[in-house]
Amino acid sequence: MITCHQAGPHPFAAQYIRMFGGTSWHWAAQLWRFVPNDFRQYSQYGVGKDWPIGYDDLEEYYYQAEVIAGVGGSPDNGSPRSKPYPMERVPASWLQQRVTARLAPDFTVLDDSTGRNSHSYDGHAQPAAVITTACRLPNRRPVSRRIAAQQAENSGVQVITEAVVYQLEHDAKGNIVAANYYDWNKVSHRVTAETFVLAANAIETPKLLLMSVSDKFPNGIANAHDNVGRNLCDHPAIGVTFDVDEEIWPGRGPVSPCSIGQFRDGDFRSEHSPFRIDISNASQVASVTKALAEGLFGKLQEAIRFAPRAIALASKMRLSSYPIEQPRDLEQQQGRAGFTHAIAVLGRERLCHQRHRKNA
Ligand SMILES: Cc1cc2nc3c(=O)[nH]c(=O)nc-3n(C[C@H](O)[C@H](O)[C@H](O)COP(=O)(O)OP(=O)(O)OC[C@H]3O[C@@H](n4cnc5c(N)ncnc54)[C@H](O)[C@@H]3O)c2cc1C
Repeated sequence: MITCHQAGPHPFAAQYIRMFGGTSWHWAAQLWRFVPNDFRQYSQYGVGKDWPIGYDDLEEYYYQAEVIAGVGGSPDNGSPRSKPYPMERVPASWLQQRVTARLAPDFTVLDDSTGRNSHSYDGHAQPAAVITTACRLPNRRPVSRRIAAQQAENSGVQVITEAVVYQLEHDAKGNIVAANYYDWNKVSHRVTAETFVLAANAIETPKLLLMSVSDKFPNGIANAHDNVGRNLCDHPAIGVTFDVDEEIWPGRGPVSPCSIGQFRDGDFRSEHSPFRIDISNASQVASVTKALAEGLFGKLQEAIRFAPRAIALASKMRLSSYPIEQPRDLEQQQGRAGFTHAIAVLGRERLCHQRHRKNA
């Protein structure tokens, strides 16, 4: 049996998809590079650790991945490029245009670095960016399902779907030699191979290793040092939703089109983590639907009027060295506010949260 230790007061609400193609069926397709100082955090800011490699060592590989995914974005976002993005930017939505104009010159709004195809790419016809419902965004580039999976099948790989691996077997030397899985009817099957690659994501992979106990490995495979399943990292986010003073019509164009990027790096990193303020373009129809479901007929007109003026922001922290702990579950704050006031409140929330984490 696997037990999870909840270290902090905020439960970690993991999200991932178990199906052929994995979580990129649902992701936002943001594909940001690190900034150079991420690799030298200790020598630059005196905290954390330096990486054994630098940004320049990865630059070409970043580009190769961007070509596969068809990435576009703002060129001057703190991550230097030797070649232009392989994809033209997705045209700015009305929300992005208004937010960019209203926040200048205090804040610079960048196109998110995303694998959203603004035109046909790599032989695939991709529709324009018009839909922002939660799940199926046709212009996102679902890298694993559409490209990697298809290429694997084209090269002769047999894909077995609706199969859940529940145990790995090893030989006398400890090498994995077989995987046991259940099919849809919970009939067990055994697959043997010379080489196994485990890519079931950051939660399911360690879970499978921990479930694969034997006399030789009583704590699970590859777990001699009791590190499997520990030190999971994520990018905690804090969200605020504001009723701003003009209609910005969220919901037209990609769901997360742009960000305030100037906090991705800076001297403040000796005190707290860098972050990016993601400006969501998610349709606020959900708030109206919720109000209807709650029988809020008297205030319906107000709720409907709120939808085109609501803007949602989230500060995404990166490179957190803290153990997993979710901030106040995307706390929603609502109220009338100017744009810059919204940013200020978000910054205050984020700093309070970081202090709380430091003291925890
Ligand atoms: C809402 C959302 C938005 C996101 N947005 C972004 C973003 O914009 N940019 C970004 O970089 N990342 C984003 N992510 C994270 C990103 O999607 C994941 O980090 C990434 O997909 C992980 O890839 P993976 O191959 O490791 O795992 P997954 O994509 O989760 O794939 C794991 C695969 O293994 C299979 N599997 C699992 N367990 C078993 C088992 N026991 N037996 C057999 N098969 C198994 C699953 O069915 C799945 O096919 C987002 C995630 C979510 C949920």
